[in-house]
Amino acid sequence: MDETLLMIPGPTRVAPRVLKAMSENIVNHRSAIFGQILSETTQIMSDVFRTNNQSYLITGSGTAAMEAALVNILEKGDKVLNIVGGKFGQRFMQITEAHRGTSLPLEVEWGHAVNPDEVGFLLEEHDDIKAVTVVHNETSTGVVNPIQQLGKILRGYDALYVVDTVSSLGGDHVEVDDYGIDICVTGSQKCLAAPPGMAGITLSKDAWDVVNKTDSASYYLNLKKYRKSGDAEPPETPYTPSVSLMYAMHEALKVIVEEGLKNRVNRHKLAAEATRNGIKALNLELFPKEEVSSTTVTAVRMPEGVTDGEFRGTMRKKYRVELAGGQDHLKGNIFRIGHMGNITHRELITTFSAMEMTLRELGFEVEMGEGVAAIADTYLPEDL
Ligand SMILES: *Cc1c(COP(=O)(O)O)cnc(C)c1O
Repeated sequence: MDETLLMIPGPTRVAPRVLKAMSENIVNHRSAIFGQILSETTQIMSDVFRTNNQSYLITGSGTAAMEAALVNILEKGDKVLNIVGGKFGQRFMQITEAHRGTSLPLEVEWGHAVNPDEVGFLLEEHDDIKAVTVVHNETSTGVVNPIQQLGKILRGYDALYVVDTVSSLGGDHVEVDDYGIDICVTGSQKCLAAPPGMAGITLSKDAWDVVNKTDSASYYLNLKKYRKSGDAEPPETPYTPSVSLMYAMHEALKVIVEEGLKNRVNRHKLAAEATRNGIKALNLELFPKEEVSSTTVTAVRMPEGVTDGEFRGTMRKKYRVELAGGQDHLKGNIFRIGHMGNITHRELITTFSAMEMTLRELGFEVEMGEGVAAIADTYLPEDL
């Protein structure tokens, strides 16, 4: 078993009880026993999405649900407003184009959040926008976008509101019904802390009205088939799902219910705050502004005079702590600390002490223990 501590924005560490659930023997995926597991899992999935609508689980990574969201509502030439402020915002744009939609990209500087008013202006200007896509937590830049405010603006328009919560659901506030989200997608391997390979999706009535009128260009991701199978007795998936991963999702979602969604979000918020405090204590610089900084992943500028290979390489090889690098033009310029899923002060203290040793070895003036102290101070009650 690899003992490297994963501090990356997915996949995240999986609890032993979830791994154990996965080791149960395979059952017939078209049976009452599997139907029971599937219906419990999708029910909790809806609870975590905070929606009264049905949820569906797709065997595939988070991108499968992103693609399912668009391929079921788009026909050739349909206009989609894609908010693009990082790698995953870009992915929605590329999926739009792959399915012959017309993308209207709203480019946001990487490291910044979208200004909801700009979305409002574009919706006023173009009356034929069929959908708006946004990534709640832009994992590539460590930025959280204002999905609640966007939802308020979108209420005044017919465009469907499509939100990627792959790296936020279970780690930050997501209220699908309350925010007016029409299609919400997520993945198993981020804040939900299940192994990679399952994607979740939920659709509003308005979204289904569009899906019903759309000739889906996908066979595997045709959501009408997921709905039909899901409504069957016992409920099923249209094709053979990863039965083992369904056990894992079932157990991982039960863990979330036991912890309580609010407690879990608060735990993530505290981990993010501690991480930012630790970074500041080491005189490192956050990449996004603190106000828009993610609750689940912190992006930090690479300190001057050190390469990504030296820094993350030492962290990984010598201290067995895995951090994430930057993507595209941010490669080598930032590193990212994932604190999603099951992360607590234990993992953060280990990470920061390894970071202090690494930086010292690489020639930086680091006072040993300052980052760790900032983590501890964040977690300790103020009146001690
Ligand atoms: C991880 C991630 C995805 C999905 O990536 P997969 O590799 O397909 O699971 C999508 N959006 C965001 C914001 C992500 O962080």
